[in-house]
Amino acid sequence: MSAVASPLLPVYPPTTVTFVEGDGARLVDDTGREYLDFCAGIAVVALGHRHPAPLAAAAEQLGKLWHASNLFGTEPQRELAARLSERFGGAQSFFCNSGAEAVEAAVKYARKATRKTGIVALEGSFHGRTTGALAATGQPAKRAPFEPLLPATFVPPNDVAALEAAIVGDTALVILEPVMGEGGVVPLDAEFVAAAFGGDALVCLDEIQTGVGRTGTFFCFEQLGVRPHLVTMAKGLANGLPVGALLVADEAAGAFAPGDHGSTFGGNPVACAAGCAVVDQVDDALLASVDRVGNRLLQSLGTLGRARGRGLLLGLELDRPVPVQELLEAGLVVSTATPNVLRLTPPLTVTDAEADEALAIIREVLA
Ligand SMILES: *Cc1c(COP(=O)(O)O)cnc(C)c1O
Repeated sequence: MSAVASPLLPVYPPTTVTFVEGDGARLVDDTGREYLDFCAGIAVVALGHRHPAPLAAAAEQLGKLWHASNLFGTEPQRELAARLSERFGGAQSFFCNSGAEAVEAAVKYARKATRKTGIVALEGSFHGRTTGALAATGQPAKRAPFEPLLPATFVPPNDVAALEAAIVGDTALVILEPVMGEGGVVPLDAEFVAAAFGGDALVCLDEIQTGVGRTGTFFCFEQLGVRPHLVTMAKGLANGLPVGALLVADEAAGAFAPGDHGSTFGGNPVACAAGCAVVDQVDDALLASVDRVGNRLLQSLGTLGRARGRGLLLGLELDRPVPVQELLEAGLVVSTATPNVLRLTPPLTVTDAEADEALAIIREVLA
């Protein structure tokens, strides 16, 4: 056996920081140093670290019941499904544990509902790392070592003619991120998204990153004037506890029957209790704040480079790789979308003062 450097499989680059504590938009490392967190676990810690509402809901549920299996009912799962149905305006939910699993469920649902197999997705899209979700991910480098994958056709974002041409008789599923997250923070035009509805395929809006208020409305599609057949959710839904969901609009209901799909851990009572608390916190006041702080940030970023995004899902395109490490050393935690695109996904609860502080660090490091 050859010697290995770490007990972890090396699928992530080596890290220099170990975080031990968080509070709101702040993180603390194992040396006691404090950071401003504009990554939020890649848009996962929606309400900020240790937010009292999901913390109390999860703690209460931890003290009552951790797991019972989907062979039986649990209250938090039903309550979260009811809340999501209300926000969507009539939908049934399937719960799983991650974004990729939600996309897997969407692929299976569309195949069974349409009896077709084709997937249409976007160049540069990201839908997850499992083989089905990877099949819909339009990034050659992530796919190449694992091909052949399920067949899919990729079109350039916001190219209406290409999208219309790609949707053919065998298309089961058109899957789109309303704002492409990993692909460079690229918002889709309303006209382009509307064109996805031109055929008989089911349209899934992947709101794993854009959902739960991230873009200033509960679902981003509310700003695009469409009503999708399917929605995938995950990241921010339980403020950091693992949860994913496939929502099926009532008018697209009926394809799945008992035995068609499932998940041992899906709908976990603790994760769903936290999810209910998160959904309840994402009210009109918080959404208005996301919109306002997001627009202010977008305008200021625009003075530093090509800035784009919606709400608090923002990208700043630079002419060089994003200096993530320098920003970290200056006290600001961020992620990248593509290597040249700085991605900002702070907690939705971020304040104007915290936004100004982050901007000052970015300005200084980029200068
Ligand atoms: C993060 C993400 C996924 C994958 O979610 P995982 O929980 O990592 O499986 C899928 N789609 C979008 C849009 C995402 O941002």
